[in-house]
Amino acid sequence: MTHPTTQSPITHHPSPLLPGSTVGVFGSGQLGRMLALAARRMGYHIAVFSPDADSPTGQVADREVVADYMDADAVRAFVRSVDAVTYEFENVPAHVAMIAAEEGVPARPRGRVLRTAQNRLREKTFFAEAGLPVASFVPIRSLADLSAALETICVPAILKTAAFGYDGKGQVRIAHPSQAADAWRAIGEQEAILECVVDFEKEVSMVAARGVDGSFVHYGLIENRHANHILDVSIAPAAVDKIAEVHAARFAKIVMEKLDAVGVLCVEFFLCKENRLFLNEIAPRPHNSGHLTIEAAVTSQFEQQLRAVCGLPLGSTEFVRPAVMVNLLGDLWADGKPNWAALAAFPTAKLHLYGKAEARPGRKMGHITVTAATADAALSTALAARAALTADDRQRTTDDGRPKAAR
Ligand code: AMP
Repeated sequence: MTHPTTQSPITHHPSPLLPGSTVGVFGSGQLGRMLALAARRMGYHIAVFSPDADSPTGQVADREVVADYMDADAVRAFVRSVDAVTYEFENVPAHVAMIAAEEGVPARPRGRVLRTAQNRLREKTFFAEAGLPVASFVPIRSLADLSAALETICVPAILKTAAFGYDGKGQVRIAHPSQAADAWRAIGEQEAILECVVDFEKEVSMVAARGVDGSFVHYGLIENRHANHILDVSIAPAAVDKIAEVHAARFAKIVMEKLDAVGVLCVEFFLCKENRLFLNEIAPRPHNSGHLTIEAAVTSQFEQQLRAVCGLPLGSTEFVRPAVMVNLLGDLWADGKPNWAALAAFPTAKLHLYGKAEARPGRKMGHITVTAATADAALSTALAARAALTADDRQRTTDDGRPKAAR
């Protein structure tokens, strides 16, 4: 499985940041943690800025700064102390990119990319204006807007808040126009979009990267299966027609070029009959569906982010083996710690834990990746490995490591 690289004719770009340089990361979750692990392996230093102490990223970074994103003085001091800035989530206030620009520190991707991804209305409008296929949508700013839209565009439809939506949060499905008032209340009466429900066959994503020289690479299409609106399983390569991947790559490249994005960016798609694709959303950073590239690809999405942010040439996105990733949510901790010994008995299951102290239902605590000769084989092993974590309650332990009493 090889995926192509294209080079655009940009002649001038700054000299790359080499090992020994310090990358500053805004946001301190698992994406920053896996970036930091890749960066430290390669001899880079990582400083992290977020409001949280002892964070998943902070635990493995060289330096953890705990401050509010709105604290401009703290942001400026942090930016001055690093060689480049990047983000591990998109909801970072716009002044961070502005301060980096004032200080002459490269911030990748640039502010416009974050701004577009932060708001579904801006994002969908950008797709539509770029001529990219997207489900029909209407901006909603009042109950009157919503009632009118439900009479004119499709039902069923989905009402989504414009800001701060992820993992299905801030979304309501509307089956009939009479549900307008309830739906408007349910999303907190805020700016939203109403979107037609897409009758998709599969959800797929494409993790792509663009370098400072305009080069573009991607990891092919990955199939994503969700449970309760949260990513549950990712399968690479997705079992799809080659033509779907060709189209997806063209769309991802258009997105990154039009936004002039440097870094890693994931495009999530709905794949419908006859290989029709609709863009759902973009994440301007490594993505949960790309975690399996750590074991399965020559260059992981995290090393790729580091390479792009530091202005290095991009790495090979070739897959070494098919792979499946299963997420480990906090729900697995409901009856005590998962049975790690049972998981260890799976010789091909690679465990990643994010260092989060508190396991809450729905919270992403870690993941398992399995590589195998085929994606089907990887899928059955990955599911069996995860099931083993809760299969035998007697092997589970309490927080202080004592065996948990059988129920
Ligand atoms: P989102 O937060 O927009 O990624 O949506 C979360 C999940 O809701 C998606 O992964 C889909 O499973 C589902 N979904 C969102 N928008 C649509 C749509 N227009 N049609 C069908 N399903 C959708």
